[in-house]
Formats: sequence, structure tokens, C-alpha cells
Amino acid sequence: MTKKILLFGISAIGDYLEFGAWCLGFGVHMGFSKIFHDLVKNFSKFPGIGKRSAERMVFHLLKMKPEEVRGLAHNIEEIHNHIKPCKFCNNFSTKDVCSICEDPKREKDVICIVEEPKDIMAIEKTSRYRGLYYCLLGSISLVEGIDIENLNLRKLINRIEQGKIKEVIISTDPDNDGELTAQYLIQELSRYPIKLYRIAIGIPLGTQIEYIDSATLGQAMAERKIIAQFFYFFY
Ligand SMILES: [Zn+2]
Repeated sequence: MTKKILLFGISAIGDYLEFGAWCLGFGVHMGFSKIFHDLVKNFSKFPGIGKRSAERMVFHLLKMKPEEVRGLAHNIEEIHNHIKPCKFCNNFSTKDVCSICEDPKREKDVICIVEEPKDIMAIEKTSRYRGLYYCLLGSISLVEGIDIENLNLRKLINRIEQGKIKEVIISTDPDNDGELTAQYLIQELSRYPIKLYRIAIGIPLGTQIEYIDSATLGQAMAERKIIAQFFYFFY
């Protein structure tokens, strides 16, 4: 008897949850359908956010207090008024010139070319680089139809032509688009009297050889560096 009551209870809860989900679905389709779906569509445009995650974000917004949502909307609206590309390197900055370009301790004649401002942040975290940067704000992409014209290189080439740059390190991503962009940059910049480098691509620290994919391992072998050499002296 107790078992029967328990089963009935579970079944009733199940029906209740199902009804709740149906009501929510009905609400989504009938009540706030357009606003909901527009917002999901917009959130889905963020990198790494799929439709499911975007839906969760919208549901989270619905649970937030109205003043919190208004604060968030204000932040989003204001971002372009307060953060803009640095006029020299395209890094995001609250001023016309970013803190890296302004820093008198940086090596002004060395430039590291990256695809996005987030790459600058990643390299800065290493504390191993003291030169300046140039951010392309993208890369050549055959899939997305982004060609050479979309790469804003003019500002960089002006500085090279003025003789202000001695070294350029190409640090685009080691994927298809990044490699294509690097090849184009090598072709364009090798005509100037500068030292041109491509960032080394190799084995990540803290990993084991057997788990590294063959493309990365092959590249690491191709870019091996000498650590000792025995010289023969003939008398
Ligand atoms: Zn800058």
C-alpha cells in the first residue's frame, strides 16, 4: 500500500513537472517568443556560446533583479564609448594610446603582430616580452571570406617605412587562418630591412610526448634548436 502511494506521488510530481515545462514552452512560444528568441540569437553570436548556453543565459536574465539587468544593459551600451582601439597598435584602451605603447620602458623598435587584443593579454602574462604590439583585429579566413584588404596593416607599414622598427615577430594563431595570415605577412614585410620572426610552435609544457598530436610534434621537430655542439680542432 505504502509502495503504491509512493509510486502515485512520484507519478504526480512527474506530471506536475511535465505540465510546468509545457506551460513554460507555451509561454515561450505564445508570450515572449520574439524577445526571447532575438536575445538567444544575439547571445549565440558570442564565441563558444551555442544555442543551449544562450537559452540558459536568457533564463538567467529573467531571474535577475530588474535593476541588475538595467546595470548590465548600461555597461553593454557604454562599452564603445569608453574602450576603443589604441591609435598605434589597435589594442583596446580607455585612452587614445594604450598603456603598452605609452610605457617608456618598452623596446620601441620591436613589434609583435597578433590577431586579437586577447592575444596581447596572453603574451603579457608571460612577462617574457618587452617590445610593442600590433593587433590585426582578425586574420585572413577563406571560410569567412576575410581577405587581405580586411587586414589593417597601413599603420604598421608606415612605422616600418619610417625606419622605427628593427624586428617584427609574427604571432598569429598556428591554425589554417593564422598560418595563411602569417604567410601573407612574411611576403609583405620581407621587402623591408627588418628582422622577421615567426613565433615558435612546439610542445606544451607539462605534457607527455605520446599525447601530443602529430602535427604539433612534427612542427616541434622541424623547429628544434641546438643546445650544445662539439667542435673538432685540427692542429
Ligand atoms: Zn597601443
